[in-house]
Amino acid sequence: MSQAADVEEATARDESSYDGLRLRGVTKSFGAFTAVDELDLDVPRGSFFALLGPSGCGKTTTLRMVAGLEVPTRGSITLAGKDITFAKPYKRPVNTVFQSYALFPHLDIHENVAFGLKRRKVGNVDTQVKEMLDLVELSTQARKKPTQLSGGQQQRVALARALINQPEVLLLDEPLGALDLKLRRAMQIELKRIQTEVGLTFIHVTHDQEEAMTMADTVAVMNHGVIEQMGPPAALYENPRTTFVANFLGQSNLLDGTIKSRASDLVVVDMHGVDVSIPADRAHAEGDRGWVGIRPEKVLIGELGEELDAPGNSIPGGVVSDVSFVGVSTQYLVRMPWGQELQVFQQNTGHRRLFRVGEQVELSWRPEYAFLLDHAQDAHAGADQDAL
Ligand code: ATP
Repeated sequence: MSQAADVEEATARDESSYDGLRLRGVTKSFGAFTAVDELDLDVPRGSFFALLGPSGCGKTTTLRMVAGLEVPTRGSITLAGKDITFAKPYKRPVNTVFQSYALFPHLDIHENVAFGLKRRKVGNVDTQVKEMLDLVELSTQARKKPTQLSGGQQQRVALARALINQPEVLLLDEPLGALDLKLRRAMQIELKRIQTEVGLTFIHVTHDQEEAMTMADTVAVMNHGVIEQMGPPAALYENPRTTFVANFLGQSNLLDGTIKSRASDLVVVDMHGVDVSIPADRAHAEGDRGWVGIRPEKVLIGELGEELDAPGNSIPGGVVSDVSFVGVSTQYLVRMPWGQELQVFQQNTGHRRLFRVGEQVELSWRPEYAFLLDHAQDAHAGADQDAL
């Protein structure tokens, strides 16, 4: 057998032994418009996976292809090694929970959850419904009608109704979008608990970065039909690889820099006349220019000459231009000598004094917190897209 044939056979073996959900080269075009572009994705079995991105980036289209509600223009979708690209929706072990709960108003909660099993003439329905209602903590509401429940409770009924079918993959399409903020936060914790308890694969689509980060083991940040970066929430937040991810996931200060030297462990950048060093594994810029990125909460603000916890990385010449006290922190805007305003979030520990507008300050940060991004990318990408 030739070497190429060996590789092909090994790949095929690998494809069929993967027990999660796998998308390869999945593309969806609507006429001349490409909504999803050559998407490669592995969602491990039993994981809580979030597809995060702004409106129109292709999240729902991706989900609909997994559900079988949309046929890919190209590419393949396999689940536990089985090709489901063209399988009918009801032939897939996949269920979807939508933002609109779509409960049957004339049936009570028990009957709503039982509906799918009864239609399939499955036995032992009442025991299973009871187990599901216990799981979503609605046992006491079983005989109420949907309109007698709160939004959060109705969403839990929708979840129970999907989970009772024991799908291999549960798709959640902005399931908490209709809930108010407080209820949404409570439901995020609840959903995570339920996912851990049942151990099924959850794929959650959202444009709310906090929601994705709170719940998912892995977040895939999507933009214009492609995945920009994928990984555990903390890794994406701490070490973003693109300006879009840096701005869409939280906030970032991005400063113009010229690369002075590259060593195996450190990249030194001249940032408006100040040398800053960045660990090589956080440097994602080719060429001789880059955007130096630093999160607002990593920037320390101090008096001129004050010794802060960021040896050798002080940037003098800042003047406070705005102060917002928000309780847990104070958020400053500091105008730098080169005209740019940087954001600084200072935690309200009670140990630091407040600075006033017009005061001269010195900013600093530990080099290990900075990152370096490709200068060819738009420094504002993702910044003006509302997370909520
Ligand atoms: P949202 O958060 O607003 O739902 P999304 O990321 O889920 O956004 P999609 O619904 O996947 O985005 O849509 C991606 C793009 O594809 C959008 O520009 C949308 O207008 C387009 N699109 C989706 N469905 C169709 C369709 N049936 N025909 C034509 N264009 C479509």
